[in-house]
Amino acid sequence: MERTERDFYARDKEDQEAFLTQTWCNTCMEVDLGMKSPVEYEVDGVVFIDGECVKCGSTVTTEIADDDTDGEWED
Ligand SMILES: [Zn+2]
Repeated sequence: MERTERDFYARDKEDQEAFLTQTWCNTCMEVDLGMKSPVEYEVDGVVFIDGECVKCGSTVTTEIADDDTDGEWED
């Protein structure tokens, strides 16, 4: 599937904070451990943010269900 890179840092600071703290780690099996090094992208109309679990360093993927992305961002 086609993957479109997006700019995580184009988000509101509050959004960034929320996505970086509200996580689920499959390795730790715990919520809200936090992530770092976020990379945002879109696949087939669904937006994801990949990051590293702050605790164990595993990849944490957050799927953004809503399409509340008004304000078109440009390069
Ligand atoms: Zn973890």
